[in-house]
Amino acid sequence: IHFILLFIVIINSTSIIGKSKPLPNSLPCDIRSLDIAARLRFDHDATKIASTDFGNLSHQIPAAVLNPSSVKDIVDLTKFSYNCSVPFSIAARGHAHSVRGQAMAYNGVVVNMTSLNDHYRNGSGVRISWSASLGSYADVGGEQLWIDVLNATLEHGLAPVSWTDYLYLTVGGTLSNAGISGQAFHYGPQINNVHELDVITGRGEFLTCSKHKNSELFYAVLGGLGQFGIITRARIVLDKAPKRVKWVQMFYSNFSAFSRDQEHLISTKGLDYVEGSLTGDDNHPNNWRSPFFSPADQSRIASLFTKYEVIYGMEVVKYYYDLSVDTVDEELRMLLKELNFIPGFIFMKDASFIDFLNRVRSEELSLAKGLWDVPHPWLNLFVPKSGIMDFNAGVLVHIIHKQNKTSGPILVYPINRQKWDDRMSAVVPDEETIYAVGLLHSGGAIDWQVLDGQNKEILQFCDKAGIKVKQYLPHYETKEEWVNHFGAKWSIFNERKVKFDPKMILSPGQGIFRLG
Ligand code: FAD
Repeated sequence: IHFILLFIVIINSTSIIGKSKPLPNSLPCDIRSLDIAARLRFDHDATKIASTDFGNLSHQIPAAVLNPSSVKDIVDLTKFSYNCSVPFSIAARGHAHSVRGQAMAYNGVVVNMTSLNDHYRNGSGVRISWSASLGSYADVGGEQLWIDVLNATLEHGLAPVSWTDYLYLTVGGTLSNAGISGQAFHYGPQINNVHELDVITGRGEFLTCSKHKNSELFYAVLGGLGQFGIITRARIVLDKAPKRVKWVQMFYSNFSAFSRDQEHLISTKGLDYVEGSLTGDDNHPNNWRSPFFSPADQSRIASLFTKYEVIYGMEVVKYYYDLSVDTVDEELRMLLKELNFIPGFIFMKDASFIDFLNRVRSEELSLAKGLWDVPHPWLNLFVPKSGIMDFNAGVLVHIIHKQNKTSGPILVYPINRQKWDDRMSAVVPDEETIYAVGLLHSGGAIDWQVLDGQNKEILQFCDKAGIKVKQYLPHYETKEEWVNHFGAKWSIFNERKVKFDPKMILSPGQGIFRLG
């Protein structure tokens, strides 16, 4: 195995950003004789769409796009490449909400996963069942959007337990990363709430895997950045869906009180969601999140900025199930009574479960006039608790707030590390409590290169200060950086790649391995 590992060629410092034209004949000619040929598109319209993503920073034109009409189409394509004397790369494209070309395949074939729903699943990509050993669960196509999973499961009074802030992401896309939001402290990330997967490996094999069957593939794929296989079905944990939620926002002027309260709440039973953010005075208090505050509340909150340098917002939610029993307000009062937010700066709202979960969508729609389509040089990090005070002083206050170079929400919230399974590919810092920090920049008002420069400055600061951060939705350009990112997991990640995708066909846009 060591001999084989020696021959893995990893992309080094050659950036692939910006390549625009495919080489002629980059796919073997006989691909046109396959059954799937009718569903392959080589035209500019199709390949252009497949060379874009939410980040709008990287554009890599594929040679073709496959619009699969069945899972077998993807098996056939992958087998064909694997058995070819000159294999070509293949990227599953979920909803393309990556920010650095991770779902692109320069000169290869992009598999437009959502076409499975149009052609094959016929809108029935979510099947709900129950078993004595698993309880309620949903078998969900990898191409399904989480919003569709939510709508389908709610019809049965059920719902998944772990979410992302935004629901127009595919199941396969978020399970390839982790899938986190304010529920993760309690339930773990979405990858922690999966019983079973159907996966097409880089060898073109179609395998079902779980903790008990083909377990190495199961753990590899979860958080595996699309490197080991294409997820075509996930069996997702379901629980009883709440009817409504009590949704609370509080404001702090002091980071230690803010983080202490957050950490207290994630170690106490009772809340279902805990998040937080840096609320800059140049930002609208609710940013692109749902219109939570009344105009009167907004001007009260704005007045805080004349008094305090930096304001942090904490957002918590308690679900409730029975509309006739009115104890939830009292339970909430007990949970929040010892907290140290700025007196009087607590705001509460009662909302339906779906309105709460789908809160980012309304902002997206209101930004539709082009603002959603600007470049997004996002930086997402996991910061160990031991470094969060220094991170606040050095990054949130000094680099971001004082330089006044923010353009988008800045999320900061703690998660319990014990909910992460180390056998999975996802990488997080090795401490009991870790903070998810999302610098969700939008270019436009500030040039995206300036924001990207700030991202580099932040990473350099952490490095110098000895804060052992890990990138979430990672993006690196050199082998050394990837090896460093995976740390102790690098050798197993490598071995699994050799086992499940030995020709390095899958998800080349991540820039970890090179086709060969
Ligand atoms: P894509 O961008 O299409 O693909 C991502 C990667 O996964 C690519 O490498 C691709 O090849 C691979 N892939 C796609 N489908 C499959 C499959 N079926 N099998 C195997 N590999 C596959 N993340 C969070 O955790 N929490 C959040 O709250 C959150 N909010 C977000 C809000 C917005 C507005 C945006 C743009 C992103 C957000 N994200 C969040 C990040 C998001 O989870 C990832 O970018 C995720 O990859 C997006 O899913 P997608 O379907 O768009 O994946």
